Amino acid sequence: MKQNRLFRWVAVLLVMVLSCAAAGAQDLPRYKKIVKQLSSAKYQGRGYARDGVRRAGKYIARQFEKAGADEVTLQPFTLDINTFNGDMEMWADGRKLVAGIDFSMREYSPGVHGEFPVYHVDTLNFDEEKLFADLAKPENANCLVCCEFWFTYKHRAAFSKLQKKDGSTNAGLLYEWTSPIKFYKAYGEKVVDKPIVWVTPEAIAGVRSVKLNVDNEFLKGYATENVIARVNGRRHDGCYVFTAHYDHLGNLGRKVYYPGANDNASGTAAIILLAKYYAEHQPEYDMYFIAFSGEDANLRGSTWYAEHPVVPLDQIRYLFNLDMIGDDNPVQYCEVSDAGMEKYPLFEQVNRDEGLFRALNRGDLAANSDHYPFATRGVPCIFLENQEGSAFPYYHTPEDNKKTVRFDSYEPVFRLVTGFIERDCR
Ligand SMILES: [Zn+2]
Repeated sequence: MKQNRLFRWVAVLLVMVLSCAAAGAQDLPRYKKIVKQLSSAKYQGRGYARDGVRRAGKYIARQFEKAGADEVTLQPFTLDINTFNGDMEMWADGRKLVAGIDFSMREYSPGVHGEFPVYHVDTLNFDEEKLFADLAKPENANCLVCCEFWFTYKHRAAFSKLQKKDGSTNAGLLYEWTSPIKFYKAYGEKVVDKPIVWVTPEAIAGVRSVKLNVDNEFLKGYATENVIARVNGRRHDGCYVFTAHYDHLGNLGRKVYYPGANDNASGTAAIILLAKYYAEHQPEYDMYFIAFSGEDANLRGSTWYAEHPVVPLDQIRYLFNLDMIGDDNPVQYCEVSDAGMEKYPLFEQVNRDEGLFRALNRGDLAANSDHYPFATRGVPCIFLENQEGSAFPYYHTPEDNKKTVRFDSYEPVFRLVTGFIERDCR
């Protein structure tokens, strides 16, 4: 009897130990739960028109508190932002197109209502003079000029004239973009004179007439916030900073929203669990965890923070920016600031020693995420983004959701940054 009871206790203990080991410091089940929560309909793509970003910020602050952070604060700032929160309809020769799949709006486009002839640009025999002569013809009055995007980019001096009210009599632009249509950036900081619509070549090929019913709303001085958590270290004469943006593209009309599971619920959930890890294992230095707003609207939250830091930027021993780590490429992409290069070999060493990624693939520093405002201010930092995996093609589409996001790169990223700090503090 006694032996039986002892055996039972040992068995219970064993199960507990094993399940703890399975959960690991990275706590994958909780990670998945937070990613799914942030990409759910409740937050409407963490954009501005429906206050999804505000609800998400509150949720993240609560998560940091639950994680055991010593202090959680909100850093408010405002932004001007163009949104599409009303009608979003388009017909091509009478055929109804699907918003977010067949077409979307350029972020700084005005709304547009009406029916317009389509003028297809002859890209094989392009001649700027002929284009403007054609557009002056009565049959082309008030037309939408349709052209493959990269061609318009190559000839942007000519095409930018078509965006101005006084430049031409055309009604606006249709940019052809190969499927999947990507709603680049969150929304504009301005609204241009004439509408610009992204459309797939399949949806617009040979089309003679387009009807549009699209509403926009320009929000001036929208109040949003960065969420800042701190876990106290043993010493306060330096700190490490983890950053991830939690905003995303919001919605495109009434029906479509962009869940942004990979971009960037994946990085946000990671810094919440890193905060939990350091709250449970007191670090040598103070740790800051900053969830930025306004990234997909041109790095606005991180730029605001870099201009108004809560601790001086020169105190940062290293900054880790996690953006889109919800993927499964065994090779990890990164960018490193000039000031961060001295310690870059330590990342490669940790990666090798711990057998995390097959390799780190370092690209050129670019203004593509929140590390950039820090990199240009001399902060040692690394940007980690898992590119070219199976979730990557859904980037900035409504399909970046809880079904397409991948959880493979989370654990190695977690171990890479914690392993780096551990050795950097030795
Ligand atoms: Zn992002």
